[in-house]
Amino acid sequence: MPLATYALPSYNTPMPIQLLSAQLASQIAAGEVVERPSSVVKELVENGIDAGATTINLDVRGGGRQLIQVADDGCGIPTAEIETAFLRHATSKLQTAADLTAIYTLGFRGEALAAIAAVSQVTVVSRIDGEAAGARLLLAGGEITDREMVGAPRGTVIAVENLFYNVPARLKFLKAVNTEKRLIDEFVTRYALAYPQIRFRLTHDNRITFQTSGNGSRQDVLAAIYGPEVARQLLPIAKEGQNDDRVGVSGSVGPPSLHWANRSHIVLFVNGRWVKDNNLTYAVIQAYHTLLPTGRYPLGILFVNLPAEDVDVNVHPAKTEVRFQHGSQVFGAVQRAVRQTLVADSPIRGMTGWQVGQHGESLSPGWGGSLERQAFTRREESAQSGLSLDWSPPDGEWETAVPHSATTNDDQLAAPQPNLGGEKLPIMRVVGQVGAAYIITEGPDGMYLIDQHAAHERILYEQFMAAWARDEVVAQGLMAGTAVHLSPPQATLMEERLETLAAIGFQIEPFGPNAFMVRSIPAILAKLDPAQALMAVVDDLERGDAPLQGKIEDKIILRVCKSAAVKAGQPLSLPEMEAMVRQLEVCHSPHTCPHGRPTLIHLSVAQLARQFGRI
Ligand code: ADP
Ligand code: MG
Repeated sequence: MPLATYALPSYNTPMPIQLLSAQLASQIAAGEVVERPSSVVKELVENGIDAGATTINLDVRGGGRQLIQVADDGCGIPTAEIETAFLRHATSKLQTAADLTAIYTLGFRGEALAAIAAVSQVTVVSRIDGEAAGARLLLAGGEITDREMVGAPRGTVIAVENLFYNVPARLKFLKAVNTEKRLIDEFVTRYALAYPQIRFRLTHDNRITFQTSGNGSRQDVLAAIYGPEVARQLLPIAKEGQNDDRVGVSGSVGPPSLHWANRSHIVLFVNGRWVKDNNLTYAVIQAYHTLLPTGRYPLGILFVNLPAEDVDVNVHPAKTEVRFQHGSQVFGAVQRAVRQTLVADSPIRGMTGWQVGQHGESLSPGWGGSLERQAFTRREESAQSGLSLDWSPPDGEWETAVPHSATTNDDQLAAPQPNLGGEKLPIMRVVGQVGAAYIITEGPDGMYLIDQHAAHERILYEQFMAAWARDEVVAQGLMAGTAVHLSPPQATLMEERLETLAAIGFQIEPFGPNAFMVRSIPAILAKLDPAQALMAVVDDLERGDAPLQGKIEDKIILRVCKSAAVKAGQPLSLPEMEAMVRQLEVCHSPHTCPHGRPTLIHLSVAQLARQFGRI
């Protein structure tokens, strides 16, 4: 009996060794270069940049599966060479092996056009200066199907249709249209940042979703991506940060008050090429050490420039990884540049950070002043965990009052939390507040220390879920509406979730490219700035790939409750504390916040007696 149908077939006699057909070989090779629609976008944009284009227009349909068309006004391809351009290993950018040691163009492997053509249907029109007419070439699955001379402006237009039509295995691995769109947006916005002198325009299904003016101002591109508010807060890399002999670092970083749940806002370019580099990403994160809450990541758009011979870009066909000759030098240069920018900025911001901006909005309210002050706040926050209290007795006498059955981790959040019967809280009397963060109460068996933020989160969460189950979520209408500006990838995410958000109380309408008008917010957020409340949700949505619908709703509700809950540091009056304790007493799972952290610590009468040596 064969063991399993999944096992590799074994042969008694060896199969004959044969050369793969040219077509199969090129399909296999294409897989390394063209993984998904965004890789096509990347290669075609890079070719336009290499050709010296000043304008690059992209038209995308169906998330890139139906059509990706990239038009540039670069130097064009001579009509006599247009067929050659589609051969594998055909390039005008490299001649000898020696050239490989110092590469100044984005392309050099001569693989992209061949790879793209092997797995799609391509139409290319191109003309160079000095030729009266251009050429138009049609290819399907890498084979030329038609060619003619045509009138055309200088430059190149490449239309890639029906990507992977002949590679069903690849097609299967593509993600939802909106996910592919988002990946394309990410590439185009990155390249627009790196090349502000090029005018970019991106259209999805006939709608312009992103464009830049090509006026050379990186600040303008940042504003187009992140909106004017965020762009204004970004800090240009300080001049002192650029003083390494061989490694130049420029760009912008966000102040510590801007932070995200993932690293996708740390973008790195090496000699004008977008790269993925965990080390350098870490260098940026490290520069923010103690300045950001744990699990939060900064914004950084950094351009590293170094002699071409110090960096090897020929690591992988996709050319998104690089190797440095002196890696630690580059790491140090990036980390220093970012750190010095933050330090240089802090005293001035400390004084102006709380002032009101010229349009009446408060500027970077999250910025607490100097770096030292920030670090202090951070330490306070970490003490919130309740387990690292400096004054807890040495032998673990303090116990978190979390029944083991109730400990959850973030992944289990969506699971219903059944009544942890018998674990309800006793009736408690409020004694007072300590550190503006914890409520002290007395119960029948000793004292309790309640984390006010965690407890309030739990209360709001159970109340919200109950209202949700009854279909009674209360929304608070906004008289004038509030406009929010998102980056193109965030806007795509938002569009996907409009209905879900509406069910939770966020009524939001599209309001121009990448902008939305907020008409209402969940009532429990009424005291907050609507734009900020929404951004917190978007930020959380950005984490991970489209999980199940039910999970998404839960995630948004969690975030809403977290935003609405009282923070540590807020003094509470006795009646406020009493109201909170009463509400916590009636919760089904009062011992943990919805993220699974403890809401209270119990110190029993017996434990107290032991501590004081009475028994
Ligand atoms: P590579 O960029 O690595 O050279 P490609 O397969 O991307 O390889 O392109 C092959 C060649 O076709 C390039 O070297 C260039 O000469 C030409 N080419 C491709 N795209 C363009 C373009 N948009 N404008 C001008 N020439 C182009
Ligand atoms: Mg190329």
